[in-house]
Amino acid sequence: MVEIKTAEQIAKMREAGLVVAAIHAATREAAVPGATTKDLDEVARKVIAEHGAKSNFLGYGGFPATICTSVNEVVVHGIPDEKTVLKDGDIISIDAGAIVDGWHGDAAFTAFVGTGHAPELIELSRVTEESMWAGIAAVKNGNRLVDISKAIEGYIRRQPRPATGKYGIIEDYGGHGIGSEMHMDPHLLNYVSRKRGKGPKLVPGFCIAIEPMVSLGTARTHVLEDDWTVLTDDMSWSSHWEHSVALTEEGPLVLTAVDGGRAKLAEYGVTAAPDPLA
Ligand code: MG
Repeated sequence: MVEIKTAEQIAKMREAGLVVAAIHAATREAAVPGATTKDLDEVARKVIAEHGAKSNFLGYGGFPATICTSVNEVVVHGIPDEKTVLKDGDIISIDAGAIVDGWHGDAAFTAFVGTGHAPELIELSRVTEESMWAGIAAVKNGNRLVDISKAIEGYIRRQPRPATGKYGIIEDYGGHGIGSEMHMDPHLLNYVSRKRGKGPKLVPGFCIAIEPMVSLGTARTHVLEDDWTVLTDDMSWSSHWEHSVALTEEGPLVLTAVDGGRAKLAEYGVTAAPDPLA
């Protein structure tokens, strides 16, 4: 069953989404050489407290922190700690969430630590982010869930191959419904699977977290003994981008983007829905 939200519930999710956007801004600024991933977690914890929100990551299935910090070959679910010191040239994917009055937001981005990154790393993050936006632009009334998967995979496959061979679209993890819980039906693949149907029809009140994960090598991953940290099997570096999106009568609203997705969606010829809090 897919949870369909009222306009009032979407407005609450927008509040949560803006807290997530504030966590992103603060942790992006703090992700500098010499900082530990624990430092970033502390920054996120403070932002959530300042907004009077709650963390949905802390304690989720026993997760011990407020954000996930996934450095270089770590794809997702990296646990912040004092031992992981960011170095010039690293890339880090920061995944963050918040709850306001029981309604959830969830979003992630990849940041460059310091300077001097190889062009293929910059391109990896760009391709991953842009595939997310292609997916968001497919959140249209009358489309099916598979149309989002198709848009994400199609965008990645159309890009020039990296020098390392090809992009690995991670298959073990994907997007998800979001609302009164962080992870809800339906599961969203970042590729089209013949084994799966077209999925539910997208209707006003449908909310989904769209989160492509792409590596410079394999699509295969494994989990470390801490039961959380997900790495690529070939240790190739990877990128993760995510936004939470609500579909309304007037089109998609990107709940976790400060401008509601207006600027990026315009590049796809899509008008973002009005911000219920504006
Ligand atoms: Mg998510």
